Amino acid sequence: MIILVINSGSSSLKYQVRDPDTGERLASGLIERIGDSSHGGPSNHAEALDRVTEELEATLQGKPIDAVGHRVVHGGERFSEPVLINNEIIRAIDRLNPLAPLHNPANVQGIRAIAERWPDMPQVAVFDTAFHRTLPEHAWRYAVPDELYKKYGIRRYGFHGTSFEYVTRHAAQMLGLQAADFTGIVAHLGNGASVTAVQGGRSIDTSMGFTPLEGLVMGTRSGDIDPSILLFLLREGYTEQDLDQLLNRESGLKGLTGHNDMRSIEEEGSPAGMLALDIASYRLAKYIGGYHVAVGGAQALVFTAGIGENAWRFRERVVKRLGALGVFIDDAENQKPGGAAREISTEESAFPVLVVPTDEEAAIAEATAAVVLKK
Ligand code: ADP
Repeated sequence: MIILVINSGSSSLKYQVRDPDTGERLASGLIERIGDSSHGGPSNHAEALDRVTEELEATLQGKPIDAVGHRVVHGGERFSEPVLINNEIIRAIDRLNPLAPLHNPANVQGIRAIAERWPDMPQVAVFDTAFHRTLPEHAWRYAVPDELYKKYGIRRYGFHGTSFEYVTRHAAQMLGLQAADFTGIVAHLGNGASVTAVQGGRSIDTSMGFTPLEGLVMGTRSGDIDPSILLFLLREGYTEQDLDQLLNRESGLKGLTGHNDMRSIEEEGSPAGMLALDIASYRLAKYIGGYHVAVGGAQALVFTAGIGENAWRFRERVVKRLGALGVFIDDAENQKPGGAAREISTEESAFPVLVVPTDEEAAIAEATAAVVLKK
C-alpha cells in the first residue's frame, strides 16, 4: 500500500508518502505560509493540497495513493485508537476544538480538503492523545473540584502518543520482548518534550497534561511552574495572550538562554546555557525517578526524538543523575555520532538505557494501512 501522511497545522502542511510494508519514504514536503497569500503562500488548506498534488505528480509518477493518514492532536476521551474517518468522526474531532484550539481545527481542514478533492479516498485519524487513554484515574485527575472535569474536561490527556507507542514497540523488540511485556520509561525529547511511564506496554503516566505545556523544560515552553505565578502576573497587568506567549513561546531553553535549539546551546557552552541544561536534566531525572516507582521498577530507559537521539551530552547529564537507581552510561556508546538504535548503558547498569529513533510518519502510515485493511 502507499499511504499519504498529513500533518496539518494552522499555517503549514507537512506530508510524507510512505510504504508501510517496507518503511520506504517515497516523497516528503512542507507547504508553509497557508493563509498568507501576500507572501506567496496558498490562501487555504485546499490550495495547499493543490501544491501537494503537483509535487506528488512529479515525485510519484502516477503511482496511486491508497489511503491518507492524518496526525490529529487531540482525541479527547473518546479516541483510544486510530479510526476510519467519516462525517460523524469529523464532527467529533471538531467538538474537541476547545481543548486544542490551534491544532484540531487545522487537522480538520486538512481532512476536509482531501475529502473534497478525492471523495472516495479512505482517510484515517491517528491521535496524539490515544496512547495515554490507559492512564489510571489517579494519574489523570487534577486535585481540583470535580465540576472542572465534568464541565470543561479538565484532566491530564498527554501527547506524543504516536511516538511513544512506536518507540515502545521498537524498544521491546530490541530487548527481545513483546510490546505488552515492556515496562519502562520513554523520554521523547524534541522541541516539545515529554516522558511516559509504560507498564506492560501501556501508558500509565505522562508528563504533559491538559495541554502540552506541563512537565519537562522544552525548547520554548516552561513545563511545570507554580500556577500562582500566572495569578501574580495577571495582577501585574499581563493579559491572557501575554501569558500564553510567555509560557508557550518565550520560556524553556529559550527563556533561560535566548536559544530554543539544543545544538546551539551545547555549541555555545555559555554559563547560562550550562545552567539551562542543569535545570532541564534535573527536571527529567526527577520524573524518571518518580516513574521508576510508578511502573514498579523500570526494565529500561529509552531516549528518542531530536535531542534524545542526538544530544549525547544531554543524555549524559540525565543519566549521571540516576546513580541512585543503579543506572550507568557507557561513554563510548553514548558518544557515537548519529541517532542509531542502540544500548548506551554499561553491563553493570541495573537496567538498559536505549536510544531508539522515533518515526511518527511511519507509525501513522502503519496504523492507517491497518485500519483500512480491517475495513
Ligand atoms: P520537533 O519537536 O520540532 O519535531 P525534533 O525532534 O526535531 O523537534 O528535535 C529538535 C531538537 O533536537 C532541537 O533542540 C535540536 O537542537 C536538537 N538536535 C538535533 N540534532 C542535534 C544534535 N546533533 N546535537 C544536539 N541537539 C540536536
